[in-house]
Amino acid sequence: MAGKLLQSIRGIHDGLPADVRRWQRIERAARQVFGRYAFSEVRLPVLEPTELFVRSIGEATDIVSKEMYAFTDQGGDHICLRPEGTAGSVRAYLQGGLTRAGEQRWYYVGPMFRRERPQKGRLRQFQQIGVEMFGAAGPVADAELLAMAHTFLQELGLRDLTLEINSLGCHACRPAYRDALVTFLRDRAGQLCATCHERMEKNPMRVLDCKVASCQAALSDAPEMIDHLCDGCDTHFSGLKQGLAALQIPYRINARIVRGLDYYNRTAFEIVTDQLGTQGTVLAGGRYDGLVEELGGPATAAIGFAAGMERLAMLLEDADETAVDVAVVALGDAVADYALQQAALLRSHGLRVVHCGGGGAKRQFKMADREGARFVAVIGSDEMAAGGVSLKNMASGEQQQVTLTPDTIAALRG
Ligand code: ATP
Ligand code: MG
Repeated sequence: MAGKLLQSIRGIHDGLPADVRRWQRIERAARQVFGRYAFSEVRLPVLEPTELFVRSIGEATDIVSKEMYAFTDQGGDHICLRPEGTAGSVRAYLQGGLTRAGEQRWYYVGPMFRRERPQKGRLRQFQQIGVEMFGAAGPVADAELLAMAHTFLQELGLRDLTLEINSLGCHACRPAYRDALVTFLRDRAGQLCATCHERMEKNPMRVLDCKVASCQAALSDAPEMIDHLCDGCDTHFSGLKQGLAALQIPYRINARIVRGLDYYNRTAFEIVTDQLGTQGTVLAGGRYDGLVEELGGPATAAIGFAAGMERLAMLLEDADETAVDVAVVALGDAVADYALQQAALLRSHGLRVVHCGGGGAKRQFKMADREGARFVAVIGSDEMAAGGVSLKNMASGEQQQVTLTPDTIAALRG
């Protein structure tokens, strides 16, 4: 029993300090870059009505059909832990009465929940950094959003990533394409996996991104949406490509990107790495011009993306942001108050300070060493009498008595 109690749910992990340091770096880069594009943060509920996702994501999708943590609460309401952020954003946009408030540029950071089969890069609770933009219809918005995603990943120092784009068409051109695709798939049915047989009828475009190799082989000459776009969608896609070229953002057209969710139209994209095996999509999104209306609002153009924080974190080098600037070693009870004050003084100037707790000198020096402190401030009664500390530079071994002033403190900064 005790063993079980001490185990988190499978696919749901703790964020220990080394993990959170990476997440914070990712968030910092996101906030900086998104801020430059004039996006504002929103904080939306983790619990939402189950129906919101059934209506928006679609019943035939993996998320809704088998991955939602949905339950009936004590009051009989059907509730679930959000599996993604777009549906809730649209709900908040409508509920907040923002449909006439001009273009909305939002971003969010937070946990999402999907009952998937846990594996590397695929968790049941994971974090997304997402953005949603309401009210921008033209391809300029698509190009700028992708430029923002690109810059964000560049600022994190991630270089070996590929941007892949596609167009999913719209209600005008997709039905005819869908028919052509279904005809093609029925023809190849013998070569497709069992899941694709099901998808073929319910959600035929999903067959295109099946991960099974034999399915991919059978699909090599499948009809592609980008060859069946109506004039409006074709012009939009050209506009996006032109914008990316103007910004010198490299991309690849991947006609297999279909996105799992029902609500996407026109632009769809993914940013992928080959370093994470089959879980290589670190950021994905697209246009969803019909969703606001579908959920009861006025027709509203919209586009967004979400990046998986844990997958991005796996690509980052460990950052040594824990480095302690100064460890304070207090020798003797008589200096206890003075040592507390000197530690506080150092911190008030922005240094990262660990107080070694007083008591035995040996234990305190050992602790200072373990903390990796760059300086040790030794405080005994002589130092206190002189109004200073004995500073030891741990790299050079140099030691001198100094009085802590703004200047001497500034010199301790890393
Ligand atoms: P995948 O194809 O990897 O299943 P998806 O199409 O389900 O991804 P989205 O719903 O578009 O993903 O979510 C956007 C991003 O969130 C993904 O690109 C990925 O980085 C991350 N993500 C999605 N599901 C998970 C998960 N179960 N665990 C960790 N990260 C995830
Ligand atoms: Mg998925």
